[in-house]
Order: sequence, then structure tokens, then C-alpha cells
Amino acid sequence: MATIFSRIVNGEIPCYKIAENEKCFAFLDINPLAKGHTLVIPKQETDYLFELDNELLAELSVFSKKVALAIDKAIPCKRVGVAVLGLEVPHAHIHLVPLQSEADISFSKPKLKLSQEEMEEIAARIRSFL
Ligand code: 5GP
Repeated sequence: MATIFSRIVNGEIPCYKIAENEKCFAFLDINPLAKGHTLVIPKQETDYLFELDNELLAELSVFSKKVALAIDKAIPCKRVGVAVLGLEVPHAHIHLVPLQSEADISFSKPKLKLSQEEMEEIAARIRSFL
């Protein structure tokens, strides 16, 4: 069965899309730790990031860099933090989280509740810097 992220890539489940190329896809995390929290995934279904072949892992890293630099410009932050967990969704993904402080990338803190309009606005702003 397709993962929830493959269903997002295929357009079966809606998302706030940020960017896409032939092999990679980026969209806002639905339960963000901070405004602009983005997930970057390979379109290929692989559970564990470090099981990707070298070429795809390299491509995903370069794609993440492009997205992170756009987040950096779009969202006031000191840095864009990077995290890999994969404890919930078995489809490799990289979290990009705009940081003002270390606490902003704590996955045990309560997630933000943002309106659909806010999420759309954030996604459009990040896209405008790509
Ligand atoms: P992890 O697998 O890295 O532990 O967590 C999965 C992440 O994916 C979580 O931050 C969660 O909010 C996000 N997530 C889970 N399901 C969906 C979804 O359907 N849409 C979006 N945009 N994000 C999701």
C-alpha cells in the first residue's frame, strides 16, 4: 500500500506544496513545530533515509538546500534546522525547521495550530523565493 507521502505526491491527499522535481518533493508539515516547517522527500518509496542509494541521497540533499535557502529568506529565523526522525511515517523525509532557538526543533513540544489561510500564505511566500 502506498505511503501517505506517496499519496500526497500523487495528489490523492492535499498538501501545501513548496517544490518538486523529477525525484524529490517538498511540502509543509501539517503539524508544524514552527512557521515554515517543511518536509522534503524522495518520490521513491523507501522507509529509511540512509537506505537511499548515494545518488538519490545526494540529489535529495541538494534539493533540500535549495528549499532551505528559500525558507531562510521567507521566514524570519536565525537558521534553518535539519532533522531526520521517521518514527511516524515510513517514507524517508527530512524536516527543515526555521529556528530562533534550539527549542524550536524540539519534537516533544506542542505543535502549532495554523489556519489553512496561514499555511497557504507561508507556502506561497517560501515558493516566491525559489
Ligand atoms: P516522523 O516520521 O519524522 O517522526 O514524523 C512525520 C511528520 O510528518 C510529522 O511531523 C507529521 O506532522 C508529518 N505528517 C504526518 N502526516 C502528514 C500529512 O498527511 N501531511 C503532512 N503535510 N504532514 C504529515
